[in-house]
Amino acid sequence: MDVFLEIADNYVFDSLYGKVVNAFPASPASPVMEASSMNTTTAIINNSISNSSTIASAFLDRNNLFRQGLSLFFITWIMGTLSYFVSACIAYFFYFDRQEARQHPKFLKNQELLELKVALSNLPGMAVLTFPWFLAELRGYSYAYDDPAEYGYFYLGFSVILFLLFSDFLIYWIHRGLHHPWFYGPLHKLHHKWIIPTPFSSHAFHFLDGYSQSLPYHLFPFFFPLNKYLYLVLFGSVNYWTVLIHDGKYFSNNAVINGAAHHASHHMYFNYNYGQFFTLFDRLCSSYRHPDQELFDAELKKDKKLQKQRVGEMEYMLKNVEGTDDRMYTDKKNA
Ligand SMILES: [Zn+2]
Ligand SMILES: [Zn+2]
Repeated sequence: MDVFLEIADNYVFDSLYGKVVNAFPASPASPVMEASSMNTTTAIINNSISNSSTIASAFLDRNNLFRQGLSLFFITWIMGTLSYFVSACIAYFFYFDRQEARQHPKFLKNQELLELKVALSNLPGMAVLTFPWFLAELRGYSYAYDDPAEYGYFYLGFSVILFLLFSDFLIYWIHRGLHHPWFYGPLHKLHHKWIIPTPFSSHAFHFLDGYSQSLPYHLFPFFFPLNKYLYLVLFGSVNYWTVLIHDGKYFSNNAVINGAAHHASHHMYFNYNYGQFFTLFDRLCSSYRHPDQELFDAELKKDKKLQKQRVGEMEYMLKNVEGTDDRMYTDKKNA
């Protein structure tokens, strides 16, 4: 994160904070004016200007804790929003089958707009909770390291596998916990509004839901050494992966990888496939469900009788998990 911060300091924050400091000039009256000659109101105003000026001046120091925290919040928020928006747009406009999704009886009215609204309004909250992790890493409290050779190249490669397994294991249990009735309604139900996900569903969740499922990524470098450049690549990749598992492109019927088809089954049938990257923990903990065959078969996909049967099963699961269904579907018959 120090790399991003340095670039942002050079091109944005130095000049931005400089302008803020200029907007709060030190009071010229206070050093020369006798306290006794000032009335109380003037003294309060001068003190306030002087305090604001001191706080603002601290923002000229790149190593100031508060400046670093504020800058990292903006970086996390803006980069997170940009990476979500750009990758979801690429998936949505270049290969997501919009026609097919919209024809599904469980696609919501104005779903993409609703998803965008939920995501964009929750990403600032996620950034508020996330930037302290980057700040702690920046100030040297983690095991993040600079030189790729420091722990050897074998460990560098191994740390990728360890990162994925560590986070997949924790995300499995956090996600499964979010399906507990205590947390499902207040936190996770918002993400399950999308029975038929689109790439814009990927970050359309309650900010505490999204934050809790991203916690393992931030915890990892506080438990294990991780090269800081590799960390940035991994963090960017896992964010993109979140879009990929919502993009409706069912390339992989892989037994090991938890792809878009597995996650589509999670949105459709709720209590299966909690994993993020692999099917391992779902298999070990008896929550694995093989994706429906028609996801990989264009002919079967056209079978309306089969679709009706799947929708019936989904409605049965929804009734168990949520009770009543308050969604507004495109197809009014299903509203
Ligand atoms: Zn879920
Ligand atoms: Zn999802």
